[in-house]
Amino acid sequence: MIYRSLTALLMSVLLGACSSESGDATASQQVAKDKPNIVIIFTDDMGYGDMSNSGHPTIKTYNLDRMAAEGQKWTNFYVAASVCTPSRAGLLTGRLPVRSGMASSQRRVLFPDSKGGLPQTEITIAEHLKSLGYSTGMVGKWHLGHLPEYLPTSNGFDSWYGIPYSNDMDMNLDLVASVNDEDWERRHVIHPENPGVHWKNPKSEYWDVPLMQGEEILERAPDQHQLTKSYTEKAVEFIKANKEDPFFLYLAHSMPHVPLFTSEEFSGVSTAGLYGDVIEEIDWSVGQVIKTLEEEGLSENTMVVFTSDNGPWDIYKTLGGSAGMLRGAKGSVFEGGVREPTIFSWPGKIQPAIIHDIGSTLDILPTASNLAGGSLDYQVDGYDLTEVLTEVEVGPREEMFFYGGDVLRAVRLGRYKAHFYDENREKLDQPWLYDLNEDPGEKYDIAADNPEVVARLAAYALQHEQGVVPVVNQLER
Ligand code: MG
Repeated sequence: MIYRSLTALLMSVLLGACSSESGDATASQQVAKDKPNIVIIFTDDMGYGDMSNSGHPTIKTYNLDRMAAEGQKWTNFYVAASVCTPSRAGLLTGRLPVRSGMASSQRRVLFPDSKGGLPQTEITIAEHLKSLGYSTGMVGKWHLGHLPEYLPTSNGFDSWYGIPYSNDMDMNLDLVASVNDEDWERRHVIHPENPGVHWKNPKSEYWDVPLMQGEEILERAPDQHQLTKSYTEKAVEFIKANKEDPFFLYLAHSMPHVPLFTSEEFSGVSTAGLYGDVIEEIDWSVGQVIKTLEEEGLSENTMVVFTSDNGPWDIYKTLGGSAGMLRGAKGSVFEGGVREPTIFSWPGKIQPAIIHDIGSTLDILPTASNLAGGSLDYQVDGYDLTEVLTEVEVGPREEMFFYGGDVLRAVRLGRYKAHFYDENREKLDQPWLYDLNEDPGEKYDIAADNPEVVARLAAYALQHEQGVVPVVNQLER
């Protein structure tokens, strides 16, 4: 505690010295100092075990490792869902996707033929921060509705460059069939236990996805080898163009969602094969963002959050990532599907630490709001994490609700997690119970020895479910 106080004292002296030097600061610079910039770097389908600092033996993530060492690494950080669309709805609204109609057990995500999207009644981080004077930019994968009224520019972002949904959509069926054997459809759709040629040796022309700027389609089937690099360039441009104002940047990589692509510079660099190459290019991209913030003198006024939207897509074997010691993967409410590699960085402000408290992407909106001097007068499912970040106080979050589609399948309360369904989504007669402190891999069911804990979690889950108001389902439209 004494060490923390001394550090805080030293910081306030240093910050005081800095601000007295800039006595001629203009009003806009003053505003910029009061409100921190916020950058979210979001990857797609990256696993808990895919960073070298989380133990991956054949992927090198020097920039993420540095960020983790200098910032806070959160080891119990959850997404709002284990697939793309609902996870992103949760991140951007701070509300469980079931509340906005962005979760479905029939269609798990939005597709190119979907008519729905994030309802206008929902307030995104971008909309909220914009109301507080922020410039807002997005680069990368959206996946919250591709019709004009649902695009990022209709949801609080001043600018957007990227792809409206996943990079494996709009598949050119004739082309893909022509490079595979007659079994390709089974391999792609039903159970790709032996991924087809189009996955193992992907070509951009197999997927006619649109690359967009604002509401304009720049091109179809863009060169996906360039995506990580071009997203990074756009992100760096945005930071440089908006350095005088407080800004919010949401950089949502399309990678490492299959099909996997890297630029030429990263082809073959990793011992872990194509998936490792992709992660090492993303790590490079993180380094470029951090370097730009440093060069522009913005580091000490910018919080950077790195995390992923859901666990690794393990059905693609080595083309998917690794959840490390965790059980389950993308699409599952077991830990490997929902617990993500997460780092917060903000030199001089965030206390370097490894945090075992529970956190969630749902918490980013309330935290950003507090840091920006805002307030929220509507129901959110997130908590303000500021005091954990800056003082290493005990975290405010005790619970996490785990939905598969729009069905509550598991709940965590403190150290315990109860599952009400098995991995095949069959309702269990008796819930399974795990102690995630002692058993983060969910190996040992302790329900039989702890009936009172099971009853407490079941009652807690029921109380939560009774409070969720049904809304129009956007994924089934
Ligand atoms: Mg995903």
